[in-house]
Amino acid sequence: MNKAVFLDRDGTINKEVSYLNSIDQIAIPQNSIKALQLLQKDGFKLIVTTNQSGIARGFLTEQTLHNIHKYFDILFSSHNIKIDDYFYCPHLPEENCLCRKPKTKMIEEALKKYNIDKSRSFFIGDKMVDVECGYNAGIKTILVLTGYGQSFKKEAQKKVSFIAEDLYAAASWIMSKPSQSL
Ligand SMILES: [Mg+2]
Ligand SMILES: [Zn+2]
Repeated sequence: MNKAVFLDRDGTINKEVSYLNSIDQIAIPQNSIKALQLLQKDGFKLIVTTNQSGIARGFLTEQTLHNIHKYFDILFSSHNIKIDDYFYCPHLPEENCLCRKPKTKMIEEALKKYNIDKSRSFFIGDKMVDVECGYNAGIKTILVLTGYGQSFKKEAQKKVSFIAEDLYAAASWIMSKPSQSL
């Protein structure tokens, strides 16, 4: 079985932009690059899960979202990083779909598709919906303090395994877990 790190996108990998809808809004800190390199080298699948209600709100189309993710791939490929998959929820909260985080459908699909062992996997995000999504899926979860992270620091405490300054600190913590060397 495989191990994976499930990653929120905005505020976790790239700088938070509300309803990012164009490639020139994508800014990826060096520490995110370093973090993804570290995790991928160690054999983790890298799976992005992102709530994109901007699609239902008409701020971007699904095609634009695909183009944005293609652009992420281009940026990452120059650093020898390959995101294994992008899962997104295009719905509004009030549509009550099964995919919008903190619900776990995106994770469950990825677990099946990539034969992932939950017990060796992690979820990293900057919002309470991320923390709750990982928690609901029964995956060890890390809150990063980038993006909206600071405002959820207290609330997240009981549901996370670790609170990290940023994605690189989260990756470093994962690498330091003794279970990772087994
Ligand atoms: Mg986020
Ligand atoms: Zn959805």
